[in-house]
Amino acid sequence: MRLSKTHLKTLREAPSDAVLESHKLLVRANMIRQEAAGLYMFPKLGYRTIRKVEQIVREEMDYIDCQEVYMPHVNPAELWQETGRWYAYGPELWRIKDRNGNDFILNPTCEEMFTDFVRKEWSSYKELPFSLYHIQFKYRDESRPRYGLLRTREFIMKDAYSFDATEEDLHTAYMRQYHAYEKVFTRCGLDYRIVEADNGPIGGSKSHEFSALSDWGESDILYCDECGMAATVERAECSDEAPVKEEMQPTEVVFTPGTKTIEDVCNYLKLPVEKSIKALMFTTYDTDLNPKDNVVCFVRGDRQLNMTKLVNALDIPAHYIEFADEDIMGPITGSVAGFTGPIGLKNCIVVVDSELVGTVNMCAGANKEDHHMLGVCYGRDYKGDIVTDIKELQEGDPCPHCGKPVKFRRGIEVGQIFKLGLKYSESMNATFKDENGEDHPYWMGCYGIGVSRTMQAVVEQHHDDKGIIWPLSVAPYHVIVTVIKSQDETQLNLAYDIEKKLEAMGVEVMVDDRDERPGVKFNDADLIGIPIRITVGKLAGEGKVEYKLRREDDHEVMSAEEAIAKAKALVDLEGDGRYLFKNLSEETLNAH
Ligand code: ATP
Ligand code: MG
Repeated sequence: MRLSKTHLKTLREAPSDAVLESHKLLVRANMIRQEAAGLYMFPKLGYRTIRKVEQIVREEMDYIDCQEVYMPHVNPAELWQETGRWYAYGPELWRIKDRNGNDFILNPTCEEMFTDFVRKEWSSYKELPFSLYHIQFKYRDESRPRYGLLRTREFIMKDAYSFDATEEDLHTAYMRQYHAYEKVFTRCGLDYRIVEADNGPIGGSKSHEFSALSDWGESDILYCDECGMAATVERAECSDEAPVKEEMQPTEVVFTPGTKTIEDVCNYLKLPVEKSIKALMFTTYDTDLNPKDNVVCFVRGDRQLNMTKLVNALDIPAHYIEFADEDIMGPITGSVAGFTGPIGLKNCIVVVDSELVGTVNMCAGANKEDHHMLGVCYGRDYKGDIVTDIKELQEGDPCPHCGKPVKFRRGIEVGQIFKLGLKYSESMNATFKDENGEDHPYWMGCYGIGVSRTMQAVVEQHHDDKGIIWPLSVAPYHVIVTVIKSQDETQLNLAYDIEKKLEAMGVEVMVDDRDERPGVKFNDADLIGIPIRITVGKLAGEGKVEYKLRREDDHEVMSAEEAIAKAKALVDLEGDGRYLFKNLSEETLNAH
């Protein structure tokens, strides 16, 4: 490919709204362009990298016999009504109508369509197990599209679906995808962690996220070096601290003027925060978004509420709940804003964090302006309608498995896998016949990779102040041949000769033969991050060139033949990213 014939419009300045270095660099390198909020175009170089990531995904899916198919982006609403997700998915679901007024959606994910395909095409146990995938644009009307490709409204996703006869077979399929994901992200050159995750609105029983480590990631990860526990903050279990053994005191209402926060009360009463109970109030909504229930939650004063655990406990979709206006809720539930306590509440669902069970002599709101109550004991004075773990595990808390302090990192979620169980096969009546002709629902799993998000995660981990440093496996081209003086026939001919020879060996080459100053060419080469640079300059007459790797500072002068051989050898070694498999376990490598 010759740059003199190709559009490349690199920019000095990044867009003013870009915060992440990866976002800035992809825009500056002319690899992505925003059309409207969360909608991107991919100029040539960017689209080449997208296709590289897709190809890695495709190879690893094919390796585990996952079959590639292609589904429409537009789905009839009926399928989504069958599973109830038409109502439960929330405002991210992009709904459209055809000219006759029929409802459709733009796929945010494809469980319904694949299940529908399978119930129409498959029928016998003899065809099991099998799994299917496609790489396709997905649509989510995100409330805040941001961070370049990390959170867009149209994005490229690989989604796969497995169909099995038994729960055990589902586990096998799930682990096959798990190991394939390890290979995909390893080949892309990502430093990632695999963490247990919440199933969220997709449903099912078990899930893992693959998170590319980055301080800017939106996925919060808690992990333990001691026992290997790793989970997203939404998912991470908390171990309850055992209640302090004390004799129960009678309750006592005390005057605590103007102390609306837990810290204020505890300072005022000189109590440790762990001896207090914090209240949080919510309103839930029904499918027509009319207010349904009042919910009051209680956690220990030093704990934070985990919203995901709360919506799971209430068994409602996340968008059916909102913080309540405590002033409005007061007259209904008998609470008083800032002084809400668990005793004497009415007309509400009381959710109590499991850690409060057995606690005695705690301080809580007295449901009376400017008053708190001391001596509050669980069981004697109040109980929960729902009692479960609704608190957040935080950095330094004891690991729920081994008790050692947990650590915290941020990551970019690049993939997630789910055991769906029978959720979709039962609601859509997708069954197979066993040996005796009896019908059974499929055990299903689903498996997503954000292809476009992965591309940017790679940049987030591979760049310096000059630009992107692509790993060879996903670089738009392997080699850039920079011609110092494009008007010089000798230089130009040598550059084209190198291009021809490398291309004949399967190496992808771009030649910067533009009529530009060398400084511009070098800056662009650094910015777009092509891994190998061969510079053809004044030594061209002697057949000599400079050979430099983007990831290294130094260059070497050598003959063009040597540079060609070196580039070819490096592409052979690193080109498909498999050389990094040395970091993977035998179990992963043998998973087929
Ligand atoms: P998030 O929690 O970041 O919103 P998600 O858990 O809803 O993502 P999944 O349903 O698991 O996403 O989708 C599979 C993959 O698709 C994700 O792991 C991610 O890589 C990618 N993805 C999801 N939403 C977006 C988006 N808005 N923009 C770009 N990629 C996305
Ligand atoms: Mg996810």
